[in-house]
Amino acid sequence: MGIRLVLGDITEQRVDAVVNAANSSLLGGGGVDGAIHRRGGPEILAECRALRAGRYGNGLPTGRAVATTAGRLPARWVIHTVGPVHSAGHDRSALLASCYAESLRVADELGARSVAFPAISTGIYGWPMDDGARIALTTVRNTPTDVRDVRFVLFDTRAYAVFAEVLDGLP
Ligand code: ADP
Repeated sequence: MGIRLVLGDITEQRVDAVVNAANSSLLGGGGVDGAIHRRGGPEILAECRALRAGRYGNGLPTGRAVATTAGRLPARWVIHTVGPVHSAGHDRSALLASCYAESLRVADELGARSVAFPAISTGIYGWPMDDGARIALTTVRNTPTDVRDVRFVLFDTRAYAVFAEVLDGLP
């Protein structure tokens, strides 16, 4: 599997699946979530509402992932995953790792070969970028998957630089 870093907007990626840093309501929010729903249009929200009316009546639990259509985005699917809110007192790293592993598992179920990830939890949810990058890159590197092309889409040069440094240091 190849891992690539891209500076840009995840909604513009031509990949099979883009991953959304969703919240457990699945009904939209700020950051990546807001951008995906704005650019992808109402079809995505309609499928999210159907998931809330069915399988995920209480919302999508933290660390889990579920797919919907990508609406008008260039991607075919959106994989929604709920990152943990960063906490100084509780180590929630396993939940953040689970977001990446579960998203790849869902991608495999879909037959997706290319997947774009944002830096989950590093925005509104407050995760420090360097630790978020380390968890993201080590988990993706170590998760068995049929996905061939994993792209981390970083929204600003600082996030890109942090990911590049962590990727360089991986064994
Ligand atoms: P979370 O609630 O999981 O922290 P956010 O969407 O607030 O999710 O932020 C996750 C990361 O995605 C942050 O580093 C933020 O700067 C970045 N980000 C925000 N919008 C976009 C976008 N359109 N494309 C890629 N990354 C984005």
